[in-house]
Amino acid sequence: MLMFIPKRIILEKDVMKYDMAKKILGYYKSKPNIEIINLSSNKFSQHIPGDDFYEQYREGKRTLIVGTKKSLKFQSCKPSAHYQLPLVSGCMGQCEYCYLNTRLGDKPFIRVHVNIDDILNQAEKYSKERLANITIFEGSATSDPIPLEPYTNSLFRAIEFFGTLQNTRFRFVTKYNDVDSLINAKHNGHTEIRFSINTSSVIEKYEHFTASRDKRIEASIKMASAGYPIGFLIAPVFIYDNWKEEYHDLLYSLSEKLPKDLGFPVTFEIISHRYTTAAKNVINQIYPDSELPMNDEERKFKYGQFGYGKYVYSKEIIEEIKQFFTKELEELFENKEIKYII
Ligand code: SF4
Repeated sequence: MLMFIPKRIILEKDVMKYDMAKKILGYYKSKPNIEIINLSSNKFSQHIPGDDFYEQYREGKRTLIVGTKKSLKFQSCKPSAHYQLPLVSGCMGQCEYCYLNTRLGDKPFIRVHVNIDDILNQAEKYSKERLANITIFEGSATSDPIPLEPYTNSLFRAIEFFGTLQNTRFRFVTKYNDVDSLINAKHNGHTEIRFSINTSSVIEKYEHFTASRDKRIEASIKMASAGYPIGFLIAPVFIYDNWKEEYHDLLYSLSEKLPKDLGFPVTFEIISHRYTTAAKNVINQIYPDSELPMNDEERKFKYGQFGYGKYVYSKEIIEEIKQFFTKELEELFENKEIKYII
């Protein structure tokens, strides 16, 4: 298991009245070498050391802030969901291409919101505003929530809550495997768990401090066997020597292990590697030795719908990726839905 063991825990004022805060502290108290900082104001940044972005990033990734979600106005989460569910933000992982590197910028710390009752009640209010439509909540818009789950039980609470609400759905994506505590949650088919997977070469090279390929597959089997709708995000897809053999091996291994009698089609989303200039600049600062292929001359520049451009693989390569994955998925999986290959 790859549970998050922080170097320091920063407790915001007044959080100790919440059960989740007591549980988190109770768990970590027995662990050696964890600094516990009680804030008297809500200014935490001076407690995270580091002279430059490189150090602040690494220290931030080892900092857990226990706080409450004060504003209960949820962010929208188009196009995959209606709202973000703000349980956790940040992630202990250090994936070189993580979207959080640009999104959270110099605030890479992990922050957990202990007032989960307020958050879930607010979600119910939002869903009531949209009756009789289904309202979808996304639990991983700014985090990977799984490494904290064993001592927050936030996902468990959210899964059972949405399980009882007729017109709601919940979804999240993970690169981790600490899912055992979710096996017996009464999800009622309302929570979709997606696993972000890749070849072992890609994971070992770029996805530091995350679960291995086989651990993620094993976790996905547990969730599928527990009746959850599940999906796989294969992203980013890289072109390298043996890429076809290795992606085939990944999909073959998955198809061999997945139970055949699933109640829901398994979804697939395939995204080829792309980057923006802003992301490249951040990556060069926090991973100066990165071997990520980000040579602009080898890529096609494509304007995105939000006004900034991305460097993508050439049209021919993307076509090859589409053909390859379409053929593999068609041959290996029966009960599936290919959402997109881009
Ligand atoms: Fe980012 Fe996901 Fe990697 Fe965490 S596991 S660092 S959220 S890409």
